[in-house]
Amino acid sequence: MERQFTKEIESLRLGDGATFHGEGILAVTKALLQSGVSYVGGYQGAPVSHLLDVMVQAKDYLDELGVHVEACTNEASAAAMLGASINYPARGAVTWKSIVGTNVAADALSYLASAGVMGGTLIVLGEDYGEGGVVAQERSHAYALKSLMWLLDPRPSLPKIVEMVERGFELSEASNTPVMMELRIRACHVRGSFVTKSNRAPAISKREQLDGPPKEFIYDRLAHPPATFRQEKLKNDVRLPAARKFIAEHQLNEAFPGEEKALGIVVQGGLYNGLMLALQKLGLADVFGATKVPILALNVVYPLVPEEITRFCAGKKAVLVLEEGQPEFIEQEIATILRRAEVPGKLHGKDCMHMAGDYNVEALVRGLSKFVAQHAPYLDLSRGAAWLNAAQETRQKADSLLGPLPMRPPTFCTGCPERPVFSAMKLVAQDIGRPHVSMDVGCHCFGSFEPFSQGNTLLGYGMSLASAAGVSPMSSRRPVAIMGDGGFWHNGLLSGVASNLLNKGDGVLVIMKNGYASATGTQELLSSPPEDARMVAVGQSATGADRTIENTLSGLGVQWLRTVNNYKVGEVAKVYKEAMQSDYKGLKVIVAEGECQLERQRRLKPAVSKKLAQGQRHVRVKYGVDEDTCTGDHSCIRLSGCPTLTVKDNPDPLRLDPVATVIDGCVGCGLCGENSHAAVLCPSFYRAEVVQNPTLLDRLAAKL
Ligand code: SF4
Ligand code: SF4
Repeated sequence: MERQFTKEIESLRLGDGATFHGEGILAVTKALLQSGVSYVGGYQGAPVSHLLDVMVQAKDYLDELGVHVEACTNEASAAAMLGASINYPARGAVTWKSIVGTNVAADALSYLASAGVMGGTLIVLGEDYGEGGVVAQERSHAYALKSLMWLLDPRPSLPKIVEMVERGFELSEASNTPVMMELRIRACHVRGSFVTKSNRAPAISKREQLDGPPKEFIYDRLAHPPATFRQEKLKNDVRLPAARKFIAEHQLNEAFPGEEKALGIVVQGGLYNGLMLALQKLGLADVFGATKVPILALNVVYPLVPEEITRFCAGKKAVLVLEEGQPEFIEQEIATILRRAEVPGKLHGKDCMHMAGDYNVEALVRGLSKFVAQHAPYLDLSRGAAWLNAAQETRQKADSLLGPLPMRPPTFCTGCPERPVFSAMKLVAQDIGRPHVSMDVGCHCFGSFEPFSQGNTLLGYGMSLASAAGVSPMSSRRPVAIMGDGGFWHNGLLSGVASNLLNKGDGVLVIMKNGYASATGTQELLSSPPEDARMVAVGQSATGADRTIENTLSGLGVQWLRTVNNYKVGEVAKVYKEAMQSDYKGLKVIVAEGECQLERQRRLKPAVSKKLAQGQRHVRVKYGVDEDTCTGDHSCIRLSGCPTLTVKDNPDPLRLDPVATVIDGCVGCGLCGENSHAAVLCPSFYRAEVVQNPTLLDRLAAKL
């Protein structure tokens, strides 16, 4: 990847007593090294990508420490890595985006949780729930419950996050159980500082190697019957009490006192900052964190420690549980604990708050108002009511001034190589009709939005071809599966291609070979172009330097296989139409090749800036529209959707329709010209070469 984390890597080296400044997720990275982790793995995904990206780029430093880092091909391989801690006292950490990643990792996690661990294991989960979330909205909590793995949910403050990483390893070792740590989007990106400790070189590592397998073979460490029956009992009889003891002794959860002793709030640690802001809006807390209502912040949301819950709730008239998402696992467990201990008092939770979705500050203010008004009506909540009214009025005012706003769906980057493929598919659909299109996870999903609107299902990363398998036999028109090269290596090769070949499927698969796992931050893949092949001219593609995908498909037995240059819309349309109409019965794969433009621009921009600063000649290609010939029908925009192809007022006072125009961000990908040619649109587009630092010859030629 071209993005450099030089500054972040420097901060990983900080020693005793220094101050780390930065984001929550980078604090986790530093905390792993302070904890003496032996190995780190994972699969990228927001909001935890940085953890692995920084570790991968810090390879030289980690080699010094002896820490092994592995960029895994999917979450299952990352979870399986943790198997190293079953037999050896080595600490390991892995990371991925939950819930989707945890689903993929589920098999290995079940076996790991059953066998138990000797070295501490920490699974850092990007809890992509609520505002900004981009995956199916589910919670990781269910996995903790079903496998009896512990779940940390630290208060979003850097010192607390770091402490919980360190304690997480200790908790794992004290209870022989893997520990998960969920970090919401806001926790990953919260900024702050903490006082660092020196990194610990692990006792078992690449530098301090094991001299063989364990001397004593312990059958019980295999998750295999009959050991699994014993392991199942151990979980509840031994590991759970050990975990509760550790959590209580080390006070991992935090109780904050308040003068309204008859009330209480139990909150997931990750929601604490939002809660404090909501209490401030209501006039029930100050900006320094002093609260009128006592709070129990659960930095460990599973397991709960019954004595802690009963101690906090004893003597209270009412307690509110703030737990984001459904179902209300924590609230139900607290209800059971309180009932068993016969602690009186009213328990509130989802009756005051909504069941599904994000708990933002506004929602919290509303929920807290209901709770407090019911049990402490003497408290003045007028500040909160005024704040809610002001927010509502602002929204209404905006509505009345702007009217209904058009949707602004996300779209491909300017010059993205995947856009032309959807242009070609749209053109072919006009000829032969629209097929069922199975989408996959990745940038190409933007093709399901306007102006392409192609995409009927989305079933997971690498699952598009597999998800077309049921549609295909029922469909007179061949279904099309779109898959990125990231998805292909993640899961698509086996779940999709191998399954299709085994079942003699007859679909069309388009693999977007852009060279990287672009949607997650352009991480490298098995088929990424080699470093020395990347500096190629505009119009050429670095991805052509690698044929691993094509060779793999051929080796697997794919017989109908074509590679196309994405930007040649006419050619892509021709090959795509051939695949849709071919008499060949069997899987037809089109490898659509064009390097991710984001990655390409990251590489080109500094190189071009350097060239210009040195006074060297540079030619930039840009497309434009001749405003005199543009008819203003905007068919080019409906076929492209490029953010830099837009409209402007018609300069002709006799014509009212706005004309198309290309604004400054155009990267000269050529799609405009290709589209107008392939769809026989109009002759308005021109290609210009912008010469920077022109030579004498350039100036003379320009004058001529
Ligand atoms: S990141 Fe790359 S592949 Fe994704 S939309 Fe942008 S240019 Fe296209
Ligand atoms: S050539 Fe057209 S599609 Fe390509 S970047 Fe420029 S305006 Fe966008």
